[in-house]
Amino acid sequence: MFDLKKADPEATKKLAQVAAEGKLAHAYLFAGLNEKTSLITALWLACYVNCLGQDKPDSTCNHCLRILRGDFPDVVRVEPQGNTLSINLIRPLKEELAKSPDESDLRVFIIEQAEKLTQSAANAMLNLLEEPVAPVVTILITNNRAQILPTIRSRTQIVNFKGTAQDELLNYGLSSAELESIGQLDQLNQEAHYLYQELLAHDQLSLMRVHSLASLVKNKAEEKVVFIRLKQECEQAIQAGKDVNQNTKLLVLLLKVDQMLYSNVNMRNCLDYLVLKLK
Ligand SMILES: [Zn+2]
Repeated sequence: MFDLKKADPEATKKLAQVAAEGKLAHAYLFAGLNEKTSLITALWLACYVNCLGQDKPDSTCNHCLRILRGDFPDVVRVEPQGNTLSINLIRPLKEELAKSPDESDLRVFIIEQAEKLTQSAANAMLNLLEEPVAPVVTILITNNRAQILPTIRSRTQIVNFKGTAQDELLNYGLSSAELESIGQLDQLNQEAHYLYQELLAHDQLSLMRVHSLASLVKNKAEEKVVFIRLKQECEQAIQAGKDVNQNTKLLVLLLKVDQMLYSNVNMRNCLDYLVLKLK
């Protein structure tokens, strides 16, 4: 059985707070390298909103016990079959929503290894997230957020599970081999941070920064780190409600840049593109 004490303390603190204010989002993306922690945190939330006891979630009331056993009809866990999450696994959720909840006021859907959604399943998922016809919280769990469709990501509230700086990079799609080839992580982080600030401030210095960054970066993996850091800065700012318009604009440009890098446009040109487009 799952031990709710192993849920992520930072995430549960925040979720408890928004749940108490009645402001839970319709959909969350739990992103962290340790999927077990993410799953337990998702179950923690399912228990929290359904617990019959005083000290929620107590893990001991009838509802909590059944949720943890996988025997509570309003909490549905979906796991990949074989190596994919096919549409056949997602479609029943929609049917489920058409009925009224069996025993609770709020359903919880937990989708494990969401990076394994097939294209058609991802579309069905989008559909589900777009029109929440009934009270439901959908939690997508992933250890590789880079593989989640941007359209799905944008409809979910992202909860990051803190790992080390290295863990975070893996979570953004860097391979372990790439991680090992990075020789100057701290310096890259710092330069990317300055560039981010200068970009948002439309500071002329950003052009010089682009120049120095392009000569600092030694390989493809280091290049990726710079763009991952920029994305992280935007996402964190958006979540904190800071400069949302500007950060959203930059984030959209960064997704465009991902495609440019993929088609072998060099880093210098990609960075120049960002500076130019943000002017
Ligand atoms: Zn309980």
